[in-house]
Formats: sequence, structure tokens, C-alpha cells
Amino acid sequence: MFRKTSPQISLFDSSMIFPGILPENDWSHIFREKIYPQIDETIFKHLYCEHWGAPNKSIKLQISLLIFMNSERLTWREAEYHFQRRIDWMNATQTACDMNRIDHTTLYKFYNRIAEDDVAYELFKRLTAMFILECDVSTKQQRVDSFFMHGWLAKLSRYGLLKETCRVFLQNFRKQKPGLYETICVDLSRDYLKENFDFTEKDKEKANKKIQEMAEDMYHIRQAFENHHQVKHYKSFQLLVQVFNQRCNVVKVDKSHVDSDNHVNIEIKKSPDGKGEQIISTPHNTDAQYTRKRNQTVTGHKGFLTETCDPDNDVQYLTDVNLEPAGHADAVEIDKIEDRLDENGFKPDVFYGDAGFVNGESILEAAEKGIDLEGPSAGRSQSIEGYAKEDRPLDVADFKVKIKDDTEELIILSCPNNEIPLDQVRSEKTGQLSVHFDNKKCKDCLLNNRCPVKIGARVSTLTVGEAQYAGAERHHKYMGNSEYRKQCGIRAGAESLVNEVANKHGARKSRYRTEKRSRLQIIFAAMACNVKRYLKHTMDSCVQNQLNMKEVVS
Ligand code: SF4
Repeated sequence: MFRKTSPQISLFDSSMIFPGILPENDWSHIFREKIYPQIDETIFKHLYCEHWGAPNKSIKLQISLLIFMNSERLTWREAEYHFQRRIDWMNATQTACDMNRIDHTTLYKFYNRIAEDDVAYELFKRLTAMFILECDVSTKQQRVDSFFMHGWLAKLSRYGLLKETCRVFLQNFRKQKPGLYETICVDLSRDYLKENFDFTEKDKEKANKKIQEMAEDMYHIRQAFENHHQVKHYKSFQLLVQVFNQRCNVVKVDKSHVDSDNHVNIEIKKSPDGKGEQIISTPHNTDAQYTRKRNQTVTGHKGFLTETCDPDNDVQYLTDVNLEPAGHADAVEIDKIEDRLDENGFKPDVFYGDAGFVNGESILEAAEKGIDLEGPSAGRSQSIEGYAKEDRPLDVADFKVKIKDDTEELIILSCPNNEIPLDQVRSEKTGQLSVHFDNKKCKDCLLNNRCPVKIGARVSTLTVGEAQYAGAERHHKYMGNSEYRKQCGIRAGAESLVNEVANKHGARKSRYRTEKRSRLQIIFAAMACNVKRYLKHTMDSCVQNQLNMKEVVS
């Protein structure tokens, strides 16, 4: 049952029992006076039954403890332990000295409850609005960056994955259908539910042999239960089938060549089927997706962080935070970030991103919302040195163009060789402009090996759209203008933001199996980061900084 925290201060409040024990400029006084009252409990009301059940533990207290946990990278048990012993935590949360107990499971259950909802993001938004207002922070300039959050369990090897997937299914199966389990387990190559289970096999030859046997076991299980009216609906069975399909091929063989009744061979695929993000890497964390970035392979999620970056601000605050599957593209998320910033009242005038976020489409979409999206866009020249070369590849921004004032449509006036197009038509289907040039002139042109036009048998064609032009134009601006590059340099500060949230607040690695809980983890990490910045800003002369305390003590 929902119950608000009583505003009445207890006689046993730490400030009454131990007056003066904390310095006047201690962080906990600021938290108690400024932040604690801003935690609006009513937004959590819908998570509780209106009439039944025991009254809830103070929501303000639990939220505060979750923020402290993320500030200091504590575990659930450590949070419980610290709460009983730390006067500053008690003072910050207005907790009486005889009430400083919370079971870590209570805190964990509360965390799981709010993970199912957007309420934590709502709280983040409200606290941020308060910080921005109090510190008179301008949101006109902002920057964004993304980083990978690794899944809570390391990616398993192929050997470990097949073995663990079978084990997870059989464990559940034995519990649900003990009789059926006894009949199937005798046909399997090994006892998957044996204790002291090992995920690795160092001998490569042995490992390959065992992988083959386990793949055959999986095929056997699939054949046995794919039409069973109950077992086929088990999640663990569906997962087993999915892993088998991704990793193995079933090859039919001539009946005369095999002794068994199956008449099939199970072949192990060299690389798993499916797009990177759909490949299952562990049966325990199917939400975590597998992706590659240059030489880095990641199984997990992608976090997005946005912060203010106006040089005139005394302090910068995070204005948005989100978590998506690891394969989610930055250029797709930037549009959603802008929408959220607008909705939350933090819409920037100028928004800085890197080449992952900035492309022709995102530039135009941002412009439609009245946001100036700045940063480099990928193009045909790979480097500034490459762009400066005389024989660099040409792109659509090397053509002379005109943008119509009323419709903002693109018209090509002439090519880099000053040739006028024969005609230009817009495709109704794709919206792209097909611009035709005299192919004889193109064949004789000295620039034809650098030019993006396709020289055909009858005519040369350049296919271009407004977004492509916007991207190419930005590429030229970034590569050719050192002043602009300097201006965009302000985005680099987002790297240290990522470092702060990922490494200092523990968002580099997920502590949970599901994406929802991992998302909550990054929201609390961002909230803790903002609280820390607010405290630091408000109390420059503080003698005891909560977040540096560990360093001071050690
Ligand atoms: S190849 Fe054709 S379109 Fe390209 S620069 Fe030469 S003449 Fe112009």
C-alpha cells in the first residue's frame, strides 16, 4: 500500500542525537535540504496497491540509497551495511538513529519494481530541471556520446554456449516433467545436470568432438519435443531451438550410407546465422546483443548520454540518458534524443555529436525541429590529409547546386567540370533526384575517375537527395575548415562524461540480466553523476566530499 514519508523529524534524528558531529558544510546537509525534498513520491504511487498490503518503506529513502549506491559503486549488501553505520547517510535521508535499517532484498525488490516503468527517468528529468534552474545553467549548447555497456555475463564460447543451453533446458524440463526427463536423458551423450559443470575445454580436438555430440543432443531434443503440446512453449526449449538453428545445419544423407535411423548429419556452422544483434551468446542474458566495432566485440547494450556544454556554465549537467541494444545505431537514436530533450524542456539550439550521430538525414531532421546539429559527417575522404589531396574523390558537394527557397528542394546547376545537366527528374518512389549529363563529355572528362556520376551507354547519371547533399556538404565543411573543427572540438568533452558515468559510476558493465534493469542502472548512474556535480558546485569549500571520501580514507 502506498504511503508518503512523514515530514515530521524524529526526536532521535541524527542531528538531535549527535549535534555538530558533521561539519556545517557537509554534503549531507545540502542533500537533505535541497535534493531529498525534491524526490516526489507521488510519481511512484501507481506501483502500489491502493488499499491492500503493508505500507511501503519510505520511497524517498530508497531512492536516496540507490543514488548513494551508484555514487560509490556499492553492492546491495554494502548499501545495507553503510546505512546502519554512516551518520552522513542518516542525516541526508532524515533518518532517525533507531530507524537506520533496510534489508538489501527490500531495496532490490523496489529496484525491480521501478525497472518495469519509466518512473526513474521521470525522476531523473525532474531533478535535472531543478539542478539546471538552481545553478542557472544554459541548455543552449549540448553534446552527446554513446558507449557500450557489457552484459553481466561474459560471452560464452561455442562449447560453453551449447553445453549451457542444454543444461538450462534440461534443468527446467526435469522440474516440470520428471518422467519424460528420465526417458530422454538416457539418449543424450552426457549428464548435463551433473555438478561441477565446466564451460571450457582446453583441448581443441576434444572440444570439437564434444561440440559435435552436443549439437546432436540438441537435434535429438528438438525432434522429440517440437510438436509436444506443452514443452514446445517452454522458453528454454525455444531458446535451445534458436541456438541450434543459429549454430548448426541439418544435412540429409542417403539412407544406404548411414546405420542410424535419423538419416541426417549435423554440421556445425563456421559462423552463426542471423544479424549480429540477434545472435545469442548466452542463454542467461538473451537481451544482451552481440556487435562489433572495429576490433572490439561486445555482447551487451549501448548507453547514450547527453550533457550541457555551454562554456559560460559554471557546471554542466546530464540532460538525457538512455540504453538500447548494442547494435542500435547512433544516427537512429539522435532523433529520439532530440524529441526527449524537447519534451523535457531542455531543447538545445546547437547540438554536438560525432560522425556516428551526424549524417545528412540527422542534420535535416534536427533542422526541422529548430536544432543546429553540428559535427563531422562521414564522406569519401577518409582523413583531413586525404581531403587536401588534389586527386581526392569528388562527391555531390563538389557540384554547383541551388536549394529552392520555398520547398527546400535541391537543383543541380553544373558539375565540377562546369557541364550543365541535360535534365533532372525526381523519382516519386524514392524521392531521389536523377541528374543526367552528356555521356560523351563525361567519357572525355579528365575528372571522370573521381566523379560520382555513373557513365552509362547513353547517358551519365548522378543520383542524389537532399540528405545526401547535406551530409556531403558537412563533410566538406569539417574537412576543409579548421575553425569549424575547432568549434566542434567542444564535443570531445562528452568522452570524459562517458568515462565518468561508465567507470566511476559503474555503468561499464551491467549488473543485471534484463535490458530494463540495465537501463535503470544507467539512469541511476546518470542521476548520481548529476547529484555529485550539484553537490560539488554548491559546496566548493566542503571539507568532506562524499565521492572523494574513499580516496581520502585510503
Ligand atoms: S565526369 Fe561528367 S559529370 Fe563528372 S565532372 Fe566530368 S563532365 Fe562533369
